[in-house]
Amino acid sequence: MNQNIVKRNDLLAQTVIKGLKSRNMNGYYAHDKEEALKMALEMIEEGSSVTMGGAMSAHEIGLVEALKNGNYNFIDRDAMEDKRAAMLAAYDADVFLASCNAMTQDGVLVNIDGNANRVSAIAQGPKKVLFIVGMNKICDDVDGAMKRARSVAAVTNVQRFGLSTPCTKTGTCMNCKSPDTICCQFLITRFSRHAGRINVILVNDNLGF
Ligand code: SF4
Repeated sequence: MNQNIVKRNDLLAQTVIKGLKSRNMNGYYAHDKEEALKMALEMIEEGSSVTMGGAMSAHEIGLVEALKNGNYNFIDRDAMEDKRAAMLAAYDADVFLASCNAMTQDGVLVNIDGNANRVSAIAQGPKKVLFIVGMNKICDDVDGAMKRARSVAAVTNVQRFGLSTPCTKTGTCMNCKSPDTICCQFLITRFSRHAGRINVILVNDNLGF
């Protein structure tokens, strides 16, 4: 990564962490993926039940593989036939791993969901939520974050899932009501009532989309 961008991210991350603190959420900064993995594993006690909601960023830093191979009760919803049981187990997990579709520089997290299993578990249920967020997700404000979440993250996720929506033909959000839309529920996390529940590791890298 260009050294000027590295420096910019180093500075911006401190602003984001300050914003998170003002919202009763914890922020941490990792200089690279390896440091992010080490930090995340230090935050997850061995023996914990852990699950996740489609967090590409957690895969990209090697966290999912480390948890599957480590001394954890990893609830792998992709491997479970009973998706409803997987969803209900997630609400009672010790740790829920997530990324966000976008985040503001003052610490607001924005997420869009189709089935809402991810946004509902972020909102309540799991004792701790651990976000892994690349600095590429940071936007100026909530408007910018909503635009990123819809025009970048959602459009890319639709391609990933092979769904049939207008954005797969145009490459940008067409504000559809297609039966295949994944833009059903929007969660803006601006404050946590519960100290220590929401934790964000910002990573100086481009993670997810
Ligand atoms: S609202 Fe429709 S067109 Fe827009 S990103 Fe979502 S699925 Fe694509």
